[in-house]
Amino acid sequence: MRHLPLFAQLRGRACLIVGGGHVAERRARLLLEAGARPTLVAPEFSAGVEALAAAEPTVTLVRAPFTDDLVERFWLVVAATNDSEVNARVAAAAERAQRFCNVVDDAERSTFIMPAIVDRDPVTIAISSAGLSPVIARHVKGLIESLVPSRIGALARLAGRWRARVRGALPDADVRRHFWEEVVAGPVAAHCEAGRDEAAEKALVRMLDEAARGASHGAPRGVAWLVGAGPGNPDLITLRGRQLLAAADVVLYDRLGAPELLRFARRDAELIPVGKAPNRPTTRQEEINRLLVELVAAGKRVCRLKGGDPMVFGRAGEELDALVEAGLPFEVVPGVSAVEGCAAFAGIPLTLRNVSRALLITTGHDDNDASSDLASFKPGQTLAIYMGVAKYPRIAADLIRLGHSPETPATIVERGTTDAQRVIVTTLGRLPEATERYGVAPPALLIVGETARLAARFAWFQPSTVEIDDASPAAQRARVS
Ligand code: SAH
Repeated sequence: MRHLPLFAQLRGRACLIVGGGHVAERRARLLLEAGARPTLVAPEFSAGVEALAAAEPTVTLVRAPFTDDLVERFWLVVAATNDSEVNARVAAAAERAQRFCNVVDDAERSTFIMPAIVDRDPVTIAISSAGLSPVIARHVKGLIESLVPSRIGALARLAGRWRARVRGALPDADVRRHFWEEVVAGPVAAHCEAGRDEAAEKALVRMLDEAARGASHGAPRGVAWLVGAGPGNPDLITLRGRQLLAAADVVLYDRLGAPELLRFARRDAELIPVGKAPNRPTTRQEEINRLLVELVAAGKRVCRLKGGDPMVFGRAGEELDALVEAGLPFEVVPGVSAVEGCAAFAGIPLTLRNVSRALLITTGHDDNDASSDLASFKPGQTLAIYMGVAKYPRIAADLIRLGHSPETPATIVERGTTDAQRVIVTTLGRLPEATERYGVAPPALLIVGETARLAARFAWFQPSTVEIDDASPAAQRARVS
């Protein structure tokens, strides 16, 4: 973060603008909107500035060259002349006097910069690119303008009026936060957005009544949200997943999801890592189950963020079982599973007309009878193997023993969907050697079958590296049909 965003209370406060042209005028108008008292200093003023001063009694014009001692009497200083030497002198004087100073179009010299602003009074959103690209800041402003309901300000004012009363009615901070979250996401907000302010207020009163009655019955009601985080690229979480992540009191997360996602959690949410590393004893899962049940029973809203999809090799079944045993409520939000993420980002259709009409998903991790799963894999299908990188040589040998040609395409996708993605296109016969040569490490997914070779043809994801280990004529001829 190059600048700390602050919202300055300038109402009635004197601010200095050095300059008398239209840039100075624009800054003066902005300061006026915040209720500040701008003084403009310049040897001469544009007609626009003169008109502004005539219309606004709080604007003062000083017709004189800038002198260093001027800055002392002001809260903020803006250097807005078209003379970079004068601007530099203003900045230096402000620096000595320890006044914050903005030099227009010169982020280097400025001790504060002006953000792009989305104004939904009293909701104000400030956007900065640290002065590096005002165009990008304005672009983001445009995106946000379209996202934030135009009447969000009405909702904020309503919330402001009721804040003290709600605090009195709901003394428990968790209960109160849940109440406000329902206000923001529910019918109160919908009424506000539609301009029905009275209906909004009535709905709020009804909800507060209910919440106050519920609160007197005991602790807030906890809930577990099992949320799929996707395979590693933070953009691949679902909207529902993001919403619940942002609402949670506690987040239990593991190694596989994107760490960037934790930024969407509330700033005061408790973040607990519960990662399982390969080859560690599995008793950890029971600890996770116990922790989850404990937290939910204590009234916490717990987001259990799980890599990929919680229902695919995610041990969600065990966590849900523990919750059901304890009689606790939950919701499951799907995620993009590794097989879908890797297929998309490596360019491997999992089914393909006339080539593959079934997808078999299994794991290379289990020693117990994994080969019986492999036995159900037939030509004309696609096989996806989660985990078990160390078992790739045995998997290849088993499949060849089961009658698959050593030339069958086999593609490894390592760290799929992330900037570190690596795709190794090889064959069953060469798989052991390729795994070793490229030093494949988990998390990696193995895709076997005719469509796997298409990773060479459909590679599109730019940060990814693609290693074509298979130089056979068949691979070179890879075509969809
Ligand atoms: N629930 C998860 C799977 C957890 S098991 C899901 O639906 O994806 C962990 C295994 O998933 C890893 O060993 C690996 O085989 C696979 N995996 C997870 N993320 C991956 C990624 N980004 N790239 C390749 N494989 C991945």
